[in-house]
Amino acid sequence: TLPKVADFEQNTASLLPAALLRTSSYLTHPVFNTHHSETGMLRYIRRLSDFDLALDRTMIPLGSCTMKLNATSEMIPITWPEFANIHPYCPADQRAGYAELDEQLRAWLCEATGYAGISLQPNAGSQGEYAGMMAIRGYHEARGEGHRNICLIPSSAHGTNPASATMVGMKVVVTACDANGNVDMDDLKAKCEQHSANLAAIMITYPSTHGVFETSVKELCALVHSHGGRVYVDGANMNALVGLAAPGEFGGDVSHLNLHKTFCIPHGGGGPGVGPVCVVADLVPYLPGDGVGAVSAAPLGNAAVLPISWMYCRMMGAEGLKAATEVAILSANYISVRLKDHYPTLYTSASSHGKPGRVAHESKPGRVAHECILDLRPLKESSGGVNGVTAEDVTKRLMDYGFHAPTLSFPVPGTLMVEPTESETLEELDRFINAMIAIREEIAKVEQGVWPQGNNPLSHAPHTAASLLGETWDRPYSRELAAFPAPALKQSKYWVPVGRIDNVHGDRNLFCSCVPMS
Ligand SMILES: *Cc1c(COP(=O)(O)O)cnc(C)c1O
Repeated sequence: TLPKVADFEQNTASLLPAALLRTSSYLTHPVFNTHHSETGMLRYIRRLSDFDLALDRTMIPLGSCTMKLNATSEMIPITWPEFANIHPYCPADQRAGYAELDEQLRAWLCEATGYAGISLQPNAGSQGEYAGMMAIRGYHEARGEGHRNICLIPSSAHGTNPASATMVGMKVVVTACDANGNVDMDDLKAKCEQHSANLAAIMITYPSTHGVFETSVKELCALVHSHGGRVYVDGANMNALVGLAAPGEFGGDVSHLNLHKTFCIPHGGGGPGVGPVCVVADLVPYLPGDGVGAVSAAPLGNAAVLPISWMYCRMMGAEGLKAATEVAILSANYISVRLKDHYPTLYTSASSHGKPGRVAHESKPGRVAHECILDLRPLKESSGGVNGVTAEDVTKRLMDYGFHAPTLSFPVPGTLMVEPTESETLEELDRFINAMIAIREEIAKVEQGVWPQGNNPLSHAPHTAASLLGETWDRPYSRELAAFPAPALKQSKYWVPVGRIDNVHGDRNLFCSCVPMS
């Protein structure tokens, strides 16, 4: 018979030095000592998930985040012990399966992006940017041009771009955007000429963070190349490109991908991420691990979640991936067009400018890419100025309607950026659009003075059950309207666990919600 674990431990001297053994108590919070039965644990976890307004209840239309379906068949393999129970530092000859998966996935992603080489090591998009900028720096240094240290970045860029350029020792020069939200080509030309001798790179996002395919992208890449700079194309928006256009083919030299956006790895709550860095042929020697050193401790990065992206690519196939891109673009444009009389889209593709024919991705005037920025700024003024309805009020009211809010105030303050992805059905898109239109009608009642500023369903949203079912009710709108603004909510209602928190006040006045010291 096998020895019992307790016997085993009793007869084995600890190898840990006595000085390192813990003497203080730990995990003393009641949450770690309350749920002792499986049913108790199950109910505790269920209660937590009931608090959550997640993808299993509603679309999460967060622009710039690509919150798409994480299919069950993509997720299952990461639970298999063959994938899950292997140490990230195990000798390479003991992880032949992972090596094969890494090789296949890299080949597919190269095909999707038009690049020659790729490393899956970076653990986030931002780390992929860092690795990519290191490659550009390594390239210039190897050519005896290490003095090239200027990185041009359009003002519309995601904040990680200037941070990454700065981390590799480059100096960021911001270039302007025109009234349509596109890179201002005249300003870019001037800055390229001014910094020609020291130009290292430009970092652009395509389609842009304004959600638009910029028609001058090829011209832009050629311009920067003619001044000796390399082009970094931020690939976080690849959900609008896969199967339709490849950054490595329209002028990019380096990109990162976000496998936790475009390639289905779930990323609610901040991870785990995989931000592969992809490069054209002459930059391959500068990928992580070779010329410029490693960017993460584990040789294959966050390899344990790669089976998700592998399954996605394998199950979709080339045709499926292309169809997903097309549906994602169609869905964003459907929302933009159906809401245009209620909330105009801030940036759309301009009527053809630049040089037609050099366009990587032809887009009709008035169209968006995979996301659209709804302009809510005028509503504050029209509904009363200082105390008028804000975009934040709309995000809170959406919870009463059972929706997770879109991205608020990024990249433009006072706007909502909506990205439906290909995962949502027409029915769900319509449910969202109808909620947004109904909310616009509520705003109109504030504009008309039917409801006072600061005391209406928008300013008090979201409504908890406790706030609605108290003894008294003294608001100028009914409890029913607060809780069930759309009829279907009577069949299926998400109740928020807490009411509105003043975001700014909350951020500045942190307090601990642990059990008190006493
Ligand atoms: C998400 C995103 C990034 C950063 O990716 P992380 O994985 O969050 O570090 C960079 N650029 C753009 C445009 C993004 O949307």
